[in-house]
Amino acid sequence: MNYNRRKFVSRSAAGAAGLVFGYGLKGVASDRTCDDFSEESLFKPQKFDLMKEVMKFRKIDAHAHIYWTEDSPGTQLDYGRRLGIEKQVISRYLDVMPGTPEQFRKFNDLTIKAIKKYPDQLLGGFLLNPAYKQESLDEIKRCTDAGMIGPGELYYQVKINDPRYYPIIEKLIDLKMIIHSHAECQLGVGGYRMKYNGYKQPNTSIPEDFVEIAKRYPEGIFQFAHIGMGGDWEYECKMFRDYPNIYVDTSGSNNAENMIDFAVEHLGEDRLFFASDNSYYQSVGKILAANLTDRQKQKIFFDNYNNLLKKGGGGVD
Ligand SMILES: [Zn+2]
Repeated sequence: MNYNRRKFVSRSAAGAAGLVFGYGLKGVASDRTCDDFSEESLFKPQKFDLMKEVMKFRKIDAHAHIYWTEDSPGTQLDYGRRLGIEKQVISRYLDVMPGTPEQFRKFNDLTIKAIKKYPDQLLGGFLLNPAYKQESLDEIKRCTDAGMIGPGELYYQVKINDPRYYPIIEKLIDLKMIIHSHAECQLGVGGYRMKYNGYKQPNTSIPEDFVEIAKRYPEGIFQFAHIGMGGDWEYECKMFRDYPNIYVDTSGSNNAENMIDFAVEHLGEDRLFFASDNSYYQSVGKILAANLTDRQKQKIFFDNYNNLLKKGGGGVD
């Protein structure tokens, strides 16, 4: 999930999309030959069909959101179609406090409605709040019966390593579901890591919380949300290196050079999930732009997540 970054996203999306897709969409070709280094030739668009490259890979978006607005999920589906995203795992992050059962049920109802309307394109993730233990366990049952595949992006009501999460996580492990939580990791300035103060919800999960819970439940499958959200992704990847049951999703509107390469270098090619967090163009583009083989890209775009979904009976063929 993101904060008031609409302005930023629209700017960067326009920039990235224009840069990346400008030639590709129209399939503008050049007839320049390899030994033609004339100035006129060098500045012509090059022959490269980027959309062909985009559509070459099967894709599941492991982290996307729907909204209360009338154009949702239509807008999200439109992006998905254009980028060859077969399925999107959607939820509506619980950005209300305290996150009562009444509230999370209402949010989940929105997702249930959407997946029933678009069963071929959308997979549903449910929300809960471990502060309400029995109501959360009941909600897992209700949402699973309605066809949801696991938790959507769990939010900042309770930290992921809080003991109140234990019975919830144990239930999700029984169901072989991927445990997906929002998380943050603030960048420091001049070597000084900023404190989680003032501008942050105090119970926001951070990398250290993920490590603690992953150690406690080595059989759990944890999805650390959006390494591209703008946090310190290098710190995140380094911290998770030795915990094979922590996976990262690649979503977010911040796309530092080398982020995907760095994540693969530290976590291996099996522990990244392609995801957008609704920054669709950027999130496809950053994986295409990584220095990886097609096989590695296919794993990130589709196979890694799908293979885990299959364990819980929710995969795609
Ligand atoms: Zn988030």
